[in-house]
Amino acid sequence: MSKFWSSTVRKTKPYVPGEQPNEADVIKLNTNENPYPPSPKAVEAMRSVIGDDLRKYPNPTVDSLRKVIADREEVKPENVFVGNGSDEVLAFAFQAFFETNEAIRFPEITYSFYPVYAKLYDIPYQTVPLKNDFTIDVDGMCNSIGGVIFPNPNAPTGVALKLNEIEKIIQCNSNQVVIVDEAYVAFGAESAVPLIKKYPNVLITRTLSKSHALAGIRLGYAIGSTSLIEGLERIKNSFNSYTINRVTLAGAEAALQDDEYYDEMISRVTDTREWTTHQLEDLGFDVLPSQANFLFVSPSKVTAQELYESLKREKIYVRYFENLEDYIRISIGTENEMKDFVEKVRHIIESIK
Ligand code: PMP
Repeated sequence: MSKFWSSTVRKTKPYVPGEQPNEADVIKLNTNENPYPPSPKAVEAMRSVIGDDLRKYPNPTVDSLRKVIADREEVKPENVFVGNGSDEVLAFAFQAFFETNEAIRFPEITYSFYPVYAKLYDIPYQTVPLKNDFTIDVDGMCNSIGGVIFPNPNAPTGVALKLNEIEKIIQCNSNQVVIVDEAYVAFGAESAVPLIKKYPNVLITRTLSKSHALAGIRLGYAIGSTSLIEGLERIKNSFNSYTINRVTLAGAEAALQDDEYYDEMISRVTDTREWTTHQLEDLGFDVLPSQANFLFVSPSKVTAQELYESLKREKIYVRYFENLEDYIRISIGTENEMKDFVEKVRHIIESIK
């Protein structure tokens, strides 16, 4: 605590990020990164812009990348907003669309940043318990006072809603903004992007961090009606209109035009997810049906915390959430990493019997 801190800093808890071990022999299954490298074309595009032009500011309206995204998503560039990772896009969206005297709603088990942003920007919130099968309660998300946000698929559960259920949430909150966070949508869920043409109140956020193996360049974007995008632009431009650096722009544009590389990579991740699911079920684990690049599982024979700690001693990092005692979240690694992981889990369970 410092006497120089504002009241906002005073009431903000220090954020504890996921563990980021640096040793080479660690298997890191705790922060949902993609285990494969990004597209070689994206890496080459980034190398090629490292030179004299870096003395110049980047294009503040991000025209070229917005056009690439718009063409892919079959919308107009005016429907696209770009930020430094979807975390930044979400932070701008909270400021642009939510009020300090109207409670927003999000699921009780969901992405941990939503309550963090709400507190930071003084936005009241209500949490909606998940249903018994861990799906988001569509009716519970209806008729919010201040707006709604949820990931599809949800994090950390990996469980997705269907498009008609998302449409219902958008319809039953027609006077508020509904943010659908599609950070993991590429791994199997249906995207709500087509709904932006029908509903001016829906904003979809996406990221290149997971599906495009580019968490390191920090590129996220939002798709929505032109009026929502204009709202985001106002906040961003007042903050810093040159948010996206030249290297990130080059890498993102090239990555988004290399579907051949990414389609193959995503199938590898989803095949490995299905393989891991079956292996863990055979070991007696309860595994939620995941449409993401991670699994949310409740172990058998050991507690979630014991398993997390034993795996850590074996240099395998998974995510344990203190408030979700029975479950751990496991990011999907390469085929070999997951074989190692399953072997170690089997060994841990057997040594306890
Ligand atoms: N939304 C969800 C649900 C996430 O899990 C994450 C990643 N932790 C993000 C958004 C943010 O990702 P990024 O800032 O890397 O785009």
